[in-house]
Amino acid sequence: MLDPTAETRRKTYKRLYRLFDRATPLPVDCGAVCGKACCAGDEKTGMLLFPGEETSLPVFESEAGRVAVCGGTCRRSERPLACRIFPFLPLPDENGRIRAVPDARAVPVCPLARLARDVRFSRRFLRRVKKAGRILMRDPECAAFLQKLGDEQNELRTLGTLLQDGEQTE
Ligand code: SF4
Ligand code: SF4
Repeated sequence: MLDPTAETRRKTYKRLYRLFDRATPLPVDCGAVCGKACCAGDEKTGMLLFPGEETSLPVFESEAGRVAVCGGTCRRSERPLACRIFPFLPLPDENGRIRAVPDARAVPVCPLARLARDVRFSRRFLRRVKKAGRILMRDPECAAFLQKLGDEQNELRTLGTLLQDGEQTE
């Protein structure tokens, strides 16, 4: 695999964004029930950008990577990829197959992430999250990024299980 140029990446993100122009986690506006909790960040929180993803929003560097901050509003057409796929991540499993996985970091914020097992998500949306993952995996830097996110998710889940186990034994 060759490292893509900035122009190739620009086209790729445009294509990825289009996947989510109409595909949302639920067939209805989930923001109506939670008051758009995922958009209620501040200047210290935001959405992690994918490698090479450009944005017109202000960006700061964090340990996890570049983070876009928005002040709670944006033009819908300019939402970063992370906002479009929230609260899911496309993560490779041990066989390299992409799965749409609820983002463990979203649990404190998003009721859909908390209740993921009981929610009937839009199948179209989930298929598109997986498709986005397959497209990202063709870019070596994005593939490494997803792998790292997957490792972090596993750690968070393990930690969550340990905490739950701890709560149960007290
Ligand atoms: S926090 Fe979750 S339920 Fe609320 S708008 Fe965001 S994705 Fe939808
Ligand atoms: S960029 Fe837009 S969609 Fe994403 S968190 Fe901010 S207001 Fe919400």
